[in-house]
Amino acid sequence: MKITMIGAGYVGLVSGACFSDFGHVVTCVDKDPAKITALENGKMPIFEPGLEALVAKNVAAGRLSFTTELASAVAGADAIFIAVGTPSRRGDGHADLTYVYAATREIAASISGPVVIVTKSTVPVGTGDRVEDIIRELCPDIRIEVVSNPEFLREGAAIGDFKRPDRIVVGTEDEWAQGVMRDIYRPLFLNEAPVVFTSRRTSELIKYAANAFLATKITFINEIADLCEAVGANVQDVSRGIGLDNRIGSKFLHAGPGYGGSCFPKDTLALLKTAEDFNTPMRIVEAVTQVNDSRKRAMGRKIIQALGDDHRGKTVALLGLTFKPNTDDMRDAPSLAIIQSLKDAGIQIRAFDPEGMEIAGPLMEGVTFATDAYDAAQGADAVALVTEWDVFRALDLPRLAAGMNAPVMVDLRNIYSAQEAGRAGFTYTSVGRGTLP
Ligand code: NAD
Repeated sequence: MKITMIGAGYVGLVSGACFSDFGHVVTCVDKDPAKITALENGKMPIFEPGLEALVAKNVAAGRLSFTTELASAVAGADAIFIAVGTPSRRGDGHADLTYVYAATREIAASISGPVVIVTKSTVPVGTGDRVEDIIRELCPDIRIEVVSNPEFLREGAAIGDFKRPDRIVVGTEDEWAQGVMRDIYRPLFLNEAPVVFTSRRTSELIKYAANAFLATKITFINEIADLCEAVGANVQDVSRGIGLDNRIGSKFLHAGPGYGGSCFPKDTLALLKTAEDFNTPMRIVEAVTQVNDSRKRAMGRKIIQALGDDHRGKTVALLGLTFKPNTDDMRDAPSLAIIQSLKDAGIQIRAFDPEGMEIAGPLMEGVTFATDAYDAAQGADAVALVTEWDVFRALDLPRLAAGMNAPVMVDLRNIYSAQEAGRAGFTYTSVGRGTLP
């Protein structure tokens, strides 16, 4: 199959590279010339484990190429995937579909033969209808079908997720388009990945329902963590105790500083906007977004509290800035809100993140960046663990404590135990691990 991928970001680049690895011939198009130049020189514009090698292998095999020229890239394609961003629209939380519709119009101006157009971007219900209208209006004589095929990969584990998905959702009722999608994903049938064919609108909604459900699960366990702290219970044991029940499942039950990232915050808001537009309030999701927003600030307060009453002018070493490990993605990372509340309280911040500092730098005025965890902790009054990168999981705690002004640790990911941190001399606070008064 010949595939064109429009948008070479976290989703487009990983999907394009994986499709080419299946044996398809893929051209990734991005309007950002810096991204394309980097890719042509074998440099990845994002950090994603395994991506560089996968891209290099398929470029060398002649199956994967990059361009800024959409017109030439779509010529003769069997399928054109739209994988551009759909951020929150400033001010109201609706998904901003500007990039999707701009890409659609560019596609319409360039196609000449039958082609299946696939929205891989996360788009609100009804977007596929609008994409179809635009193309049919501009190209009334060309056979096209518009399919919804939402992506469920997780940053940091994106290649594995793409190649071994729990399911592939394909929203189209057209037989020809179903056949094209089956051919594209056929290599995955060996992995027994179930393909769920649905209507286009249903498929669009599945993506939002999935993300809202996962965001709810995280928020639920975070509130249970607060209760654990109040009653002297342990949230990790609660998670295990409920997660072993197959009806509940153990994933997404890790208490922490609240969800962030490029998807959950914007997708929950966009789902609420859709619900509002269709006069169908979703009160659970509404509460989830509110609880999660206030949680990030509460985590800032937790750190401030650990510093004591005279916290102004003190220094916190912040370990981990990205919204989760193994990515450089800083979009809506909890660290942003935490840093803001620390700065508002007159606290100095020394931060370290293994991959996120380049992108984080411009977003964090006044923050000093360190070369590693020990450098960040040097002279600090507290260390706060915000993202559970592997390099923070087995720190030499006595060494960390020795360099600090005061050995105080706020572990927002429950990486360490109170005993372990205590042995190294730390005054230790974590999340949802209450002790009896
Ligand atoms: P991204 O911002 O990393 O990448 C989008 C890319 O599209 C950018 O490089 C941009 O330059 C390019 N682009 C925009 N308009 C273009 C055009 N007209 N022609 C060519 N290129 C264009 O975004 P992302 O994180 O890859 O997300 C893409 C979509 O996938 C979003 O809808 C998102 O919600 C969804 N999604 C993301 C993830 C994730 O983990 N990041 C997971 C599942 C779904």
